[in-house]
Amino acid sequence: PAWERRVRSSARVRSKTALSVLVTGAAGFVGTHVATALKRRGDGVLGIDNFNDYYDVALKNSRKALLDRAGVLVVDGDINDADLLRKLFDVVAFTHVMHLAAQAGVRYAMENPNSYVHSNIAGFVNLLEVCKSANPQPSIVWASSSSVYGLNSKVPFSEKDRTDHPASLYAATKKADEAIAHVYNHIYGLSITGLRFFTVYGPWGRPDMAYFFFTRDILKRRVITVFEGPNHGTVARDFTYIDDIVKGCLAALDTAKKSTGSGGKKRGAAQLRVFNLGNTTPVPVSKLLSILEKLLKVKAKKRVLPLPRNGDVQFTHANISLAYKELGYKPTTNLETGLKKVC
Ligand code: NAD
Repeated sequence: PAWERRVRSSARVRSKTALSVLVTGAAGFVGTHVATALKRRGDGVLGIDNFNDYYDVALKNSRKALLDRAGVLVVDGDINDADLLRKLFDVVAFTHVMHLAAQAGVRYAMENPNSYVHSNIAGFVNLLEVCKSANPQPSIVWASSSSVYGLNSKVPFSEKDRTDHPASLYAATKKADEAIAHVYNHIYGLSITGLRFFTVYGPWGRPDMAYFFFTRDILKRRVITVFEGPNHGTVARDFTYIDDIVKGCLAALDTAKKSTGSGGKKRGAAQLRVFNLGNTTPVPVSKLLSILEKLLKVKAKKRVLPLPRNGDVQFTHANISLAYKELGYKPTTNLETGLKKVC
């Protein structure tokens, strides 16, 4: 059938060393950038995305058109659809899965908690079930989040730190996914790498993120609410530019070992890794606003309120020494330079 030919041609690899990658969440912000970067360097790529309406579907369709032009086909489907996933694996012998489909955002969980359970937990298990039975078994790289560090007061965050105080349902689902990854590695020998992204920003970014609505509100001369922690404490984020994240994702795919088909130490241990992908420079929200004011040449109107308990944490800051050592990950873009490419 025609769809099978299109799927095959999109995921066709150009050389023996090229990867064949299924990218989930391909019409998302990070997915679009990773999928085009893979295609550009000659890997075979097929995308899947359910084009849900968590934010503007027109933006996802524009990203899809961009991917189309780059030669990446995005199948409209849900990662909970096991039949569809199996069909894709029947047609293409994927060597890798880059799993970026998820319900993102911390605050929306108070409105629609089930969407997090559906996409982040049920969807992840469904995907791993299909990967486990695929022949060959792919290696999996997936997006965890800095949010797993939760209400951890110790900064910078290292991979070995505690992650047992999530501040949001989103964070709890990402932490659950890390436990689920452990199980599928242990029992089924799947090679799995989790990447804890720290506040990713850049062109084609998500409109639910602060830098987006701050820009809109500055331009519309609306009052912007800036939150502060207890005792006037700074709220800050380790903003990480999309191109740095893409490099980290590609390095994780390139260094992923093959799945072994059976877990357990005696039968040959499959790889299980987790890395922070951040920028190592937390930037206070007040500084983010002053950069935007400078770029937009408009003064922001501000009011300061205490940080509500809505899932946000006060501070994020990545220690990236493990990712540097194992992946050669070295972010190079500071917030001001990165925002110039967005504004
Ligand atoms: P995004 O919302 O732009 O992309 C996710 C994509 O997945 C969307 O296009 C959505 O339609 C799709 N999707 C959601 N549920 C699906 C399902 N059940 N089946 C198929 N497709 C589905 O988000 P993003 O910023 O690109 O994030 C990508 C990944 O990185 C996510 O796992 C997110 O949790 C994680 N992450 C992102 C950030 C960040 O700052 N952007 C930080 C930490 C972690």
